[in-house]
Amino acid sequence: MWSSRINGTIFYAYQVCPREAWFYYHRLNPDKEHPLLDLGRLVHETSYTRARKEIFVDRLLKIDLFRGELVAEIKRSQRHKEAARLQLAFYLYYLKNEKGLEMEGVILFPRERRSERLKLTLELENRIRKLLQEMQETFSNSKPPPLQRCRWCRSCAFEEVCWA
Ligand code: SF4
Repeated sequence: MWSSRINGTIFYAYQVCPREAWFYYHRLNPDKEHPLLDLGRLVHETSYTRARKEIFVDRLLKIDLFRGELVAEIKRSQRHKEAARLQLAFYLYYLKNEKGLEMEGVILFPRERRSERLKLTLELENRIRKLLQEMQETFSNSKPPPLQRCRWCRSCAFEEVCWA
């Protein structure tokens, strides 16, 4: 039985910045007016509208759409491609271990007209398991991970929280 509050957003954020993920996990929400959040929402709202069927799974996964037997995740750009890959692997991991569904995935980058298939290999499954353990330790801490400027800070919705 799954006992964690780690959802898809938190899992993805952790790959980009553990401090940002800590904020989400502890329910500190970023500025809703942040332009990049708007852009992300816009890409989601205007892409694949006919095929679109967002599916929520246990309030942890928000699956953008199913393409046949594939779980699809839509991303604004390839900027955080590895994070997107791991987020999708986390979805596949959850579906397999919690729902008994063995599926494959695809990441869609509509603005760049690209897509990438993903298979949950044993190696990837072990990586997800380790990451979940690591995240659980990070989030059980009452303080966020220390400030560390990274190349994503300038476009992060928490920039003012961290650097004002
Ligand atoms: S501003 Fe930088 S350090 Fe702060 S949460 Fe965002 S990416 Fe992380």
